[in-house]
Amino acid sequence: MSLQDLIKKYDNGNFTKTGWFSLKNDGDSAVVRLLHKGETGVEEGTGEPTYDFPIYEVHKLDVDGSGRERTVLCKGENCEICRSGNKPILRMFLQLLNTEIKDKEEQLQLWERGLVDIKQMIGLAAEYGDLTKRNIKIVRSGAKGSLKTTYQYFPKDPSEMDVPEPQSVVGSLILDLDRDEQIRAIEGRLQLRRGNNEETPDNNSGNGRAAANRVF
Ligand SMILES: [Zn+2]
Repeated sequence: MSLQDLIKKYDNGNFTKTGWFSLKNDGDSAVVRLLHKGETGVEEGTGEPTYDFPIYEVHKLDVDGSGRERTVLCKGENCEICRSGNKPILRMFLQLLNTEIKDKEEQLQLWERGLVDIKQMIGLAAEYGDLTKRNIKIVRSGAKGSLKTTYQYFPKDPSEMDVPEPQSVVGSLILDLDRDEQIRAIEGRLQLRRGNNEETPDNNSGNGRAAANRVF
């Protein structure tokens, strides 16, 4: 594995044992088990189904001048990043067990998707019910690097598997910034912490709440 791949694998918030799911080439496939059920009930009043898919409006920006884009939670009406002209995007952060990986400790992976696949997931949940109860085969359609790549989903028959609870992505993978932090991020001078939970002497700037639960 190249150094860049290694950095990519580990540079994902506090998901320390978690890699990124990816299918690299046209026709590649993997059988996975989602950690998300899909529909969780109905909303009072509207009667619309509610879902446990981690779907958020986020911004992508280089918050610390490192040249690398981070994912930042959009704060809606009071969002300074929106005000700066950076448009929010809708993103889903799926967590899944990739059964192609034999080492059980390594199976948990993250997969960030956009609107097309959000719609696919909602469709699958409506048709198949609790999505944690069955494996799903995911097949890539699209050459390496193609912007027109799509994914097909083939749910398998229900089968037993211990599925862990998904972890919260807000405050770890997705930066949740207050107004001052947002402004620093827009200017590319937000200080992010690296490594594990231990304090490092050279980065003890007192980011307060932000530093306490963030491990970038
Ligand atoms: Zn925003």
